[in-house]
Amino acid sequence: MTETRIARVALPGPLDELFDYLPGVMGHPEPGTRVLVPFGRSRRVGILVEYAAECGCDPSRLKPVERALDPRPLFAPADLTLIRWAARYYRHPLGDALFTALPARLREPGPLLASGVAAIRLTAAGAALTPAELARAPRQQALLARLLDSPEGVAQHNLDEELGGITSALRALRAKGVVESCRLASGAVASADSSAVSAAPELNPEQAAALAAVSEALGGFRPFLLDGITGSGKTEVYIRAIAEVVAAGGQALVMVPEIGLTPQLRERFRTRLPGPLAVLHSALAAGERERAWHQASSGEAPVVLGTRSAVFVPLPRLALIVVDEEHDPSLKQQEGFRYSARDLAVRRAQLVGCPVVLGTATPALETLHNVTAGRYHRLSLPRRAGGARPPTINLLDIRNQPLRAGLSPVLRERMHAALAAGGQVLLLLNRRGYAPVLTCHSCGWVGVCPDCDARMTLHLGERRLWCHHCGRIESVPHDCPQCGGPDLRMLGRGTERLEEGLTELFPGVRIARIDRDSTRRKGELTRLLAAVHRGEVQILLGTQMLAKGHDFPGVTLAGVIDLDHALYASDFRAPERTAQLIVQVAGRAGRAERAGEVVLQTRHPEHPLLQSLLREGYGGFARAALAEREAAQLPPFTYLALLRAEAPEQEAALAFLAAARAHAEPLCSPEVELLGPVPAPLSRRAGRHRAQLLVQCAQRPALQHFLAHWTPALRALRRIKGVRWSLDVDPQEMV
Ligand code: ADP
Ligand code: ZN
Ligand code: ZN
Repeated sequence: MTETRIARVALPGPLDELFDYLPGVMGHPEPGTRVLVPFGRSRRVGILVEYAAECGCDPSRLKPVERALDPRPLFAPADLTLIRWAARYYRHPLGDALFTALPARLREPGPLLASGVAAIRLTAAGAALTPAELARAPRQQALLARLLDSPEGVAQHNLDEELGGITSALRALRAKGVVESCRLASGAVASADSSAVSAAPELNPEQAAALAAVSEALGGFRPFLLDGITGSGKTEVYIRAIAEVVAAGGQALVMVPEIGLTPQLRERFRTRLPGPLAVLHSALAAGERERAWHQASSGEAPVVLGTRSAVFVPLPRLALIVVDEEHDPSLKQQEGFRYSARDLAVRRAQLVGCPVVLGTATPALETLHNVTAGRYHRLSLPRRAGGARPPTINLLDIRNQPLRAGLSPVLRERMHAALAAGGQVLLLLNRRGYAPVLTCHSCGWVGVCPDCDARMTLHLGERRLWCHHCGRIESVPHDCPQCGGPDLRMLGRGTERLEEGLTELFPGVRIARIDRDSTRRKGELTRLLAAVHRGEVQILLGTQMLAKGHDFPGVTLAGVIDLDHALYASDFRAPERTAQLIVQVAGRAGRAERAGEVVLQTRHPEHPLLQSLLREGYGGFARAALAEREAAQLPPFTYLALLRAEAPEQEAALAFLAAARAHAEPLCSPEVELLGPVPAPLSRRAGRHRAQLLVQCAQRPALQHFLAHWTPALRALRRIKGVRWSLDVDPQEMV
């Protein structure tokens, strides 16, 4: 008799602690296995996290685990370590974090996805039997003996062949809970049609040097920043490094901010790399997602391309991680489990001991700071691959200029010239809808959202007022709701209105608009992009969606219509985001033989950010911005955690935060600073008032230490009716 070991199980939900059970009939499967456990009066699916020699209570009062649900652990030790680390770092309940990493269906007690060949295997109870115990039923006994030989299961057709006529014996064993159905991997792993693997260009010297650095690092932890302008051939470097990893039998994980926006990237991976490509993102149907997860976690797919949640996908032979567009804020999960997939990618690489490549044309200031500090190794691709020339960037002062459709005379003239020369024009306006404000010219009424501290945007095509914060929709009033007057006016300009204006200014020119509204229908984005590539579109306008990873080789002129509101936004990251957007958009122009031109319309041409960007490019901007951050003691020179609270009444939200602050004060070491509580910049959303308390600290460990003591206190705080709160470690958005 071995000592009683306690099985410690994580359950989904807002439960911070692990729950203790006796292993019972399940024996001692490895941690990372799902288990079915009694919980209160119900049963729950949990994940076995670890064994302990003892528990804080009398073991005789513990209940046994009902059974193990998986024939093998779903998480390898390194996967478990990563998720436990992430849950602790971001102060999120472990059970919830673990289930975030699994296909949704596995929250239910059902078996892993049925892929492969139908097979039969013993349950844990069955595996504990000996054939002698079934001596009175010889067919069942024979089956049991055969299955004991193959714990992973035996294909049903093999059992039929070997033993013959097993149907009733199987049914009996199933009824006793001795056997269960399972699937066996079909063995032959499908590999890409090698004739489809398209030709690779010869690397230029910088690409070759970057590739060599990554390949030399294989087999050990090393973080790289692959800092290369758009079109410099970063993706080509990823592909070569991945091909090397795959040829050596490893797996590569590639993370991108939004897959739906990058069909081109997916196609390049499919055609250039062998083996099935597992694609994982949230827009997939649950079944597709689970199949891809399975291909990845079983090791069948050598390459996994996914959005942020892919950082948790178990990969038995992980040998390389790539994070493309590492600066993109959508790599940070903004609700629930608020993790940074980029930062976790680095942590994961460290845990498994492999290189991680963070690629971008516009590195996040945090990442550049890590380079300066010597933590990340920088690889530069300073010129465009294939010899294409980078665009020139010009500031266009539009003060006192007669604008038509928001376009200054100079921009209009450049557009005509570009079109006449057979080029395509790209216009960025980062605001969708027709007009951001609907107002009454007689009494000053403004269409505001009744539930938010925000104006409603007019969408003329759909004839509605739409709140972009809570999604509330109202019909467009015919007369003023306040004074009844007829003179309602639309102020400002969104992409819909820009499109209308362009149609008038450029009659006969084919125009396409790309924003969330115009691409809502499935397949529409791909269709629009294809039309652009075939040259069927001459002017392409849209929101920041245009700056995300598409190549527009025919574009020779890019215009940014309205920079100014972004320059003076309240978020301290606004300048960084704006600079990234400009440089990303500029990178779309003039990729082929023709050099491109970028025109930025502004009323603040003297703005230091624009000036440093113009004179010294993104690198110069980043140096200036980092100096400002250091002077202001903002990240990456300090570390932040943001406690948000919301409630039907502002007082309740503030009261909660005041109580939270009172609990924080005695826990604060001198370097931890508390700022607030204050109402949030968007002080009301969807009918709820919002407030926040900021924690700032010069050292990450001190902040972590503080949070580790503070979060339990927060969870134990007396509940204030209607208050919901969340903690965001390393917040990316301060709204
Ligand atoms: P990035 O990912 O940095 O934007 P890509 O890898 O997509 O750059 O390369 C941009 C374009 O240049 C692609 O069409 C790619 O096929 C091509 N390209 C990349 N490397 C080379 C090279 N060494 N020689 C010629 N063309 C290249
Ligand atoms: Zn009015
Ligand atoms: Zn609203």
